[in-house]
Amino acid sequence: MKPSPILVYHKVNARFEFGITRVTPHQFERHIAGLIDAGYQPVTLSTLMNSPDRDDLVAITFDDAYESVYINAFPIMEKYGAKSTSFVITDFIGKINHWDVNLGWLRFRHMDAGQMREMLEAGHEFGSHTVTHENLLEMTDSEVDYELMVSKETLQDILGTEVKYVAFPFGRFARRVVELSEKAGYEAGCVFAPYNHKTLEEDNRIIYRNGVYLTDTVRSILSKIRPGMPYHWHRLKQNIINFANGGTIMVKSMTDKK
Ligand SMILES: [Zn+2]
Repeated sequence: MKPSPILVYHKVNARFEFGITRVTPHQFERHIAGLIDAGYQPVTLSTLMNSPDRDDLVAITFDDAYESVYINAFPIMEKYGAKSTSFVITDFIGKINHWDVNLGWLRFRHMDAGQMREMLEAGHEFGSHTVTHENLLEMTDSEVDYELMVSKETLQDILGTEVKYVAFPFGRFARRVVELSEKAGYEAGCVFAPYNHKTLEEDNRIIYRNGVYLTDTVRSILSKIRPGMPYHWHRLKQNIINFANGGTIMVKSMTDKK
């Protein structure tokens, strides 16, 4: 499989926390500048998907649509002419991330509707990260329908544009979820690039993306998106992150009262 030219960030924050699903603002700026130096144009997911013949594009995506993306990453992207796609948890727009139990006492705010509209006007894109950020694999079809359809409608009402993509929470998906998202009107669902070729399913309704973490450098990012580069190290890291995401789900199911 050709490496996917799509990156996934989470928080862009200098604030200390346990966990590596963030990058610092300085690190993010180095990544964007480094990608451009290497000949890449950072764009939205739609731009990338609509330009299949270009090999100089890299899509920048953000899962969870944290306010730190608006505060720290947005000005950096504007400075370099870079664009992005953020995936929003619609029950948490403008709110604190109580959905994430791994953080303990540390809490982070999500973007509000005004911040999202400002980024949209500057050429950035938004997609759905469902209503509640629960694991879709543990839901009935009608519960998955609700997560996919209500989040899409909510975002379309706020933004006045079509929402074409969904990012599945924790990257967890199955054929049933992909089919339900197609039925809900999404062009494709975003997941994480597989670390094991055997798990790979070629399906144009599934978009594979490469996670970017606190340990990443321009060099390691280029190795993820460039064909022919060794990337077993980033696979190993992806493996660890997927394991950690599994931990989030486990902790959640232990703490859920239902
Ligand atoms: Zn997420």
